[in-house]
This record gives sequence, C-alpha cells and structure tokens, in this order.
Amino acid sequence: MSDPVVVALDVGGTGMKCALVRPDGAVHHEERHPTRAERGPQAVTETILTVAEGLAVRARADGLTPIATGIAVPGVVDELNGVAVWSANVGFRDVPLKELAEQRLDLPAALGHDVRVGALAEARLGAGRGRRHVLFVAIGTGIAGGLVIDGRGYPGAHGAAGELGHVVVRPGGAECGCGLRGCLEAEASAKSVGRKYAELSGEAGATAFDVATRAARGEELARQVWLDAVEALADGLLTAQALYDVGVVVLGGGLAEAGDDLLLPVRAAIAERVTFHRSPEIVRAELGDTAGCLGSALLALDSRSGKP
Ligand SMILES: [Zn+2]
Repeated sequence: MSDPVVVALDVGGTGMKCALVRPDGAVHHEERHPTRAERGPQAVTETILTVAEGLAVRARADGLTPIATGIAVPGVVDELNGVAVWSANVGFRDVPLKELAEQRLDLPAALGHDVRVGALAEARLGAGRGRRHVLFVAIGTGIAGGLVIDGRGYPGAHGAAGELGHVVVRPGGAECGCGLRGCLEAEASAKSVGRKYAELSGEAGATAFDVATRAARGEELARQVWLDAVEALADGLLTAQALYDVGVVVLGGGLAEAGDDLLLPVRAAIAERVTFHRSPEIVRAELGDTAGCLGSALLALDSRSGKP
C-alpha cells in the first residue's frame, strides 16, 4: 500500500479548514472553503461530503492511500455515534455526519467537537506535547475547553464536556448567551472584552485586540477592562484546576494572540489565588487555527485503531 493519509475537515461557522494529514501529523495538502452556513444544514452537509470526496481523490492522484475521514464541527457533538446534534452557527440538528461520510467515501470516519479535537492536537502535536493531562482553552467569540487525559479527549456522557465558558465566575454578572449571568464567557471572551470596553469608553467597534494593545501602552480604562477579564479567567481556570489537576493549560483562540500580555497577568492572577492546588503551567497554543483540522485527523486515526 502507498503511504496512508487521513482526510481531515474542521467545519466552522464561516469557513472549513481541510487537509490531507499523514499519521504522524504532517500535512500533505491543505485547502480552505467557505461554509456559507446561511444555505442551511443540508447544503452545508453536502459541501462537507463533496470537499471530503475531493480530498480523497486528490490523495490518490498524489500516490497516497486515504485510510479514514475525520470531521470536526462546533456545538453539541455525539462522538460515539458520529452525530452533529446541535449547532448554533452551522444549524446542525441531529445530522449523522459519520455515517454519511462513510457511505460517500467508503472509508471509516470519525466525528469530533472542534475545540475538543483541537485540544487533542495541541496535547499531542502542539504546546502540550509530552504532558499526560492537558486542558486546552479556546478564547474567541466564546470560551470553550477540551480536556485530554493520557492522550485521549474526554467528550463527557452527552458530548458536552469542557464547557468552561459557562462556569459562573461572577454571580449576577454580565448576561450570557446561555441564559445565565456572570459566565466566564460573558466576562472574559474576546467578544465580551471588546463589548465592555466599547460600553465604558463610548467607542463603538473596539475589539479585544485594541483593548490588549492599549492596556499594554498604559491606557487606564483599557488596563482595567483587561485586568477584569484576566481575573475572571484566572477564577475559571482555578475551578478547572481544582477539578482536573492538569499539568498544563494551553490558551488558544483569538484572545491568546495577545501573547505575553495575556499569559503573564493570567499566570500572576493564578499564582495569587492558588492554595492547595498544584499550579498548572500556562502556555500559549502552538497550532493556531489548524488545531481542529489536525485533531480531527488524530481522532479518525484513533477510532480506526480501535482506541477509545
Ligand atoms: Zn453562559
């Protein structure tokens, strides 16, 4: 058999990152496509299958053997049965993507949650390499986490584990999209940092990135908003640490682009708060927005080899 390769897709609300990935994580070929979610879940599903099929054809043309398909999607994902249960931004409602991909490509397939498979990739190929227990936290429009235990992702009983963004860190605080108040996501996501600063400064359209750079330059209001977010994040991470006792926390997503302007104060805020906890190392993600795609390939390889 010629060299094996996995067809890997990471489907987001706006775009799909797709690749042919070798079993060691090396990317043979990469392509991106718009999701165009406004067309509805049926059309998006058809695009996913067509793109996956095209990648398999490409693999064979390049003298490689496609051996599995891995697909990552956002929302609630039943990994065991391969069903995209629910997604706000793509519109999936109980779509059996694993089965559909297996029928279309005639290859074994695996379906995973975008952040949880991103965690898998960071734990094995990225910033968590060499560590047994890794918590990956993606901070962007929302906040989500993925726990990797001994190199395996933890999906939870209902495919909904890792919703760190909806841990309440400020009771009675800012309103969250989930209906609660004071969720970590409502206090420390890139979106909420930008919104809070815009409200207080009266400057519409200010982004979390603006806040980070202005805070670094010493602007008082920006510093305060940034510090509030950092402290909320530290409270959320400390709760996670009390539960999971991981060796390393990998921070990814848009807010982590702030680099040391985020990492240094988060490390300091955690150090201030720890009592009995063993402090995790806090590091920045290494794989950027390819983590989901690489992780879906890893998930496909794992399920193919019969690992849980
Ligand atoms: Zn919430």
